[in-house]
Amino acid sequence: MLTKEIKLEYKVYQGFEEFQDIERALLLAAREATHLSHAPYSEFYVGAAVLLDGETILKGANQENASYPLCNCAEQVSLNHAMMAYPGSTVHAMAVAVNTDKDGFDLPVSPCGACRQIILEQEHRQSSDMKIYLVSKTDVVYVFDSIKSLIPLYFQFK
Ligand SMILES: [Zn+2]
Repeated sequence: MLTKEIKLEYKVYQGFEEFQDIERALLLAAREATHLSHAPYSEFYVGAAVLLDGETILKGANQENASYPLCNCAEQVSLNHAMMAYPGSTVHAMAVAVNTDKDGFDLPVSPCGACRQIILEQEHRQSSDMKIYLVSKTDVVYVFDSIKSLIPLYFQFK
């Protein structure tokens, strides 16, 4: 028997001051996108923003449905937005922001398991990593160099 260990490394920022202008714009776009959320059931408003080609930022927000399994996460909506508006483009970064009045959400929220696999698919599709920024409503930001950090031992078909 062999015991193996998986190391997770990410950066934590307290506020937006240390980021470059384009990064700050991405974080703010994700926060703005929370207002495009349709979340009457959970009241958990999630916004995502993706950065293409170093300057183009596109948004997505969670879209809930009375039939819960039909809900779409903000991360998926933003990636679908990007791939429809700019087919074949490379997504360099994604920011995800949460806005809710519920208690216990002062720290960033991570993408769900399905979104992690879908973001990973985009990394495979474009043959490059996507920087991930997770933004809390209190301006705490977690930064990951790739979604692979959040989905170790991921499924891959080939
Ligand atoms: Zn999700």
